[in-house]
Amino acid sequence: KNFSDFKFNKQVLSAITDAGYLSPTPIQQKAIPLVLAGHDVMGIAQTGTGKTAAFVLPLLMKLKYAQGNDPRALILAPTRELAIQINENIKKYTTYVDLRYTAVYGGTGMKVQEEKLKEGVDILVATPGRLMDLYRKGAFGTKQIKTLVIDEADKMMDMGFMPQIRQLLEVIPVKRQNLLFSATMSAIVENLSAEFLEFPEKVEV
Ligand code: AMP
Repeated sequence: KNFSDFKFNKQVLSAITDAGYLSPTPIQQKAIPLVLAGHDVMGIAQTGTGKTAAFVLPLLMKLKYAQGNDPRALILAPTRELAIQINENIKKYTTYVDLRYTAVYGGTGMKVQEEKLKEGVDILVATPGRLMDLYRKGAFGTKQIKTLVIDEADKMMDMGFMPQIRQLLEVIPVKRQNLLFSATMSAIVENLSAEFLEFPEKVEV
């Protein structure tokens, strides 16, 4: 399969060409059609497999263009490094799309992140602790979130982020698309999947 076989528009396909991607990686082959179709997806894939594009590219099709002030997609990452990396990928893929995005994470002041959120954001990339701190300060609203991505879910669990994720789930709309990615499959990831995915399609590479 080729990228042009997916239901991507010209803007997304141009960004893929600019990135130099010739064909979809195995996780992209399997996950992209399911994500585009609106399914909840549980993806088992390591870093380096192209998993980020597997969820970000379909997300661009779903969001289309900048709208409102509050985030419509939330991507959770366990570490500041991963959050920054995902945000960099979004930057690369949104060259021809009018969407606002930002990453928030701990270990740095909240002020700049608050200001950025105030300007309006469509895609929010976040580590769970900082996300909930900003939420409690009223820095953003959660009612427009239609897509939730949990990246590196296994690491997320290992790092003890389950309480923050549970708090988050209580304040975001129930009707949403959930995408969960993990490098490994374990009982704890299986439990997380059972707790918050609805009829998930499972893909593995
Ligand atoms: P990830 O697993 O998302 O961290 O991606 C690993 C690397 O693969 C990143 O540098 C991506 O830019 C790159 N990548 C993602 N998809 C493709 C593709 N279809 N062809 C070539 N490189 C890709």
